Amino acid sequence: MHHFDYRDGRLHCEDVDLAKLADAVGTPCYVYSTATLQRHARVIASAFEGQDCLIAYSVKANSNLAVLATLAAEGCGADVVSSGEMQRALRAGIPASKIVFSGVGKTAREMELGLREGIHQFNVESAAELRLLSYVANGIGLEAPIAIRVNPDVAAGGHPNISTGKKGDKFGVPWTEAEELYAEAATLPGIRVVGVDVHIGSQIGDLVPMRAAFEKVVGLAQRLRAAGHDIARIDVGGGLGIPYKQGDEPPPPSAYAAMIAEVSAGLGVQVILEPGRVIAGNAGVMLTTALYEKTAPDRSFLIVDAGMNDLMRPALYGAHHDIQPLKQAAPDAPEKTYDVVGPICESTDKFASGRDMPAVEPGERLAFMSAGAYGAVLSSSYNTRPLVPEVLVNGDRFDIVRRRPDLEEMLQLEQVPDWLKRTD
Ligand SMILES: *Cc1c(COP(=O)(O)O)cnc(C)c1O
Repeated sequence: MHHFDYRDGRLHCEDVDLAKLADAVGTPCYVYSTATLQRHARVIASAFEGQDCLIAYSVKANSNLAVLATLAAEGCGADVVSSGEMQRALRAGIPASKIVFSGVGKTAREMELGLREGIHQFNVESAAELRLLSYVANGIGLEAPIAIRVNPDVAAGGHPNISTGKKGDKFGVPWTEAEELYAEAATLPGIRVVGVDVHIGSQIGDLVPMRAAFEKVVGLAQRLRAAGHDIARIDVGGGLGIPYKQGDEPPPPSAYAAMIAEVSAGLGVQVILEPGRVIAGNAGVMLTTALYEKTAPDRSFLIVDAGMNDLMRPALYGAHHDIQPLKQAAPDAPEKTYDVVGPICESTDKFASGRDMPAVEPGERLAFMSAGAYGAVLSSSYNTRPLVPEVLVNGDRFDIVRRRPDLEEMLQLEQVPDWLKRTD
């Protein structure tokens, strides 16, 4: 469910005509819908009525301060994977008591920052990390509330590059070693065991492996309790898939949340969820302008002004994004088959191969749909292209929430050493 629809043949985000927005902001740019973000957060929360639940939005999916502030106002917490993300979440108004720190490579400095802020929980991913966290916490006289991220050895995830819960993935503690590590955790100074954590992948289109993983985790939580650990929280991670194209039918967020509520009911724990894509993915689009059509013997290239530096998912994961014209094509408009490519000097700078779509004229504007998650966050300034701006729509209003830097700002970070400066 999202709020991007044609009205009188013009693609709107909520009540904003995207062509007018594109005129004002320029392309490429990202556009996010407040109502869609809110709706997704509310659908998940509503499955947990009467049950203690923390929606720790996965900041890495879309970390714009305005997006975070929108979700903070919905009562969401944050799942962060760096101290930078933690600072963003705090600055956007998410209290430390709702922040969960995940990630396989936390540094001592990051641990200390999280401890001093008093975050809700550290999700620990290895024995070595657990020992360092103990050392750091003990050294400053603080206690780290921890869950151990266990690897349930369940295959899931829409693509091998985003599956994280299978034996052999770098994430989590092997299932067979988890209980031993909890036993060690109980003896470590500066460590307070509070829960169990799992996150098995992303873009998962099936509740069956998720339920299997969560049931395993509930079983583990019960064994840990029997062994004397105070397991007060279960963190089920994120990973629910979203529809990217016609025919994709991932489980609705309501069914996903209901399944988790059911599996965890009766355990008397706080359930922590770390949804990222399912909240932000369909809440955003990237707008682009068609520049040229170029014909090769066997194909037509449609060259657009957005590149893989602006939206990397197709190059990184072979991901599909629907491409829709801002001005709706007439039902009888001629169709063409395009390879849709950007201006970057890389062959992987390709958004679609052999895509059938209404013929596009140079100058026409297009929207890459479902680009709200893992879109702008993955953007770069490769080819000295300015970082792509981001815009937040709310009803009939819109605001630029990350502006396009100018070239001077981009170059300011660089310096030519004295020995290279010309003196003549
Ligand atoms: C990426 C990530 C998430 C969010 O995943 P989505 O597929 O966007 O829901 C949640 N938890 C952890 C630990 C992650 O790394």
